[in-house]
Amino acid sequence: MKDCVVVGAGAAGLSAALTLGRARRSTLVIDAGRQSNRVAAKVGGLLGRDRRPPALFHAEGRAELLAYPSVELRSGEVTHGVREDDGTFAVTLADGRRERARSMVLAPGTDYRHPQLPGLSERWGNAVFHCPFCHGWEVSDRPLGVLATGAVGVHGALNLRAWSDRITLLTNGGELTDEQRERLAVGGVGWDERPISVLDGPGTDLRAAVFADGDELALGALLVKSTLYQRSSLARDLGASLNEPDEMLSVEAITVDAMGRTGVPGLYAAGDAATAVPPSMAAAVASGYLAGAAAAVQLAAGY
Ligand SMILES: Cc1cc2nc3c(=O)[nH]c(=O)nc-3n(C[C@H](O)[C@H](O)[C@H](O)COP(=O)(O)OP(=O)(O)OC[C@H]3O[C@@H](n4cnc5c(N)ncnc54)[C@H](O)[C@@H]3O)c2cc1C
Repeated sequence: MKDCVVVGAGAAGLSAALTLGRARRSTLVIDAGRQSNRVAAKVGGLLGRDRRPPALFHAEGRAELLAYPSVELRSGEVTHGVREDDGTFAVTLADGRRERARSMVLAPGTDYRHPQLPGLSERWGNAVFHCPFCHGWEVSDRPLGVLATGAVGVHGALNLRAWSDRITLLTNGGELTDEQRERLAVGGVGWDERPISVLDGPGTDLRAAVFADGDELALGALLVKSTLYQRSSLARDLGASLNEPDEMLSVEAITVDAMGRTGVPGLYAAGDAATAVPPSMAAAVASGYLAGAAAAVQLAAGY
């Protein structure tokens, strides 16, 4: 019986495990190794680690945990979790092993779903991005597109003006209202409502959006709206509640309080999976720390 089992070793899970290790709690971290930003060349906007590769962040985080003998890191996937009648947690791994713990931190990240368009997936995380604060600096002053419709598209396009004065909102066949077109015009943003057939460019770079009628729009990078979903039913199976995704942020987050408490005694959640604010590495580190600290306090108090 461990003190805590942490599901996921991204920024949130590593941070929770570090906090628990420093509180001398026996902690098992189980990680499937599919951190959301692993496809990106760099992490943007993480103080102390700005513009360094995500793989380096994760490797250094794992190395730091080695200093704490009560922490065990294991590669694997939790396929099932249950809160037993005595208040402890049991998890089953894909390899059939079963582990038990007195508390649990869910830090499994989320599934980022982006629009489907030929040429998009291979550029995801680099020339195609979802967060201007993460990737905007790197593509400053290039001609930039925003692939979205409606109020979300208008908001995203106007916001991106901070990084370039050549912004075009691409609705891919969606129709804007006159009021939305006027807001874009006032903000100095162009728009194109024609359907797009493909994103084109050498390798993973972007050169242009090619419309269905054969016309092209030169682009250096493209901001797309993505929606974040839970990666599994684990949180629900354990009795945690989920927030309704709102139109702007579109995050289906586990409901938690400021310390990562889910409302299920002993069950905490952190990182993208539990954030109802724009997701980021910095927020994941912070929420992992808080959830780890809350779990350690609960364990020390014996409830
Ligand atoms: C393409 C892209 C680029 C990004 N760039 C930036 C950036 O530049 N700057 C920035 O601040 N933010 C960036 N982000 C956001 C950032 O990556 C996330 O906010 C951050 O990764 C969240 O950390 P996390 O620990 O919650 O989840 P993750 O990093 O996704 O880690 C979760 C881990 O849990 C594992 N896991 C999931 N389910 C299970 C299970 N059942 N059993 C075991 N393990 C499991 C996963 O495999 C994964 O290893 C980017 C996101 C994307 C998608």
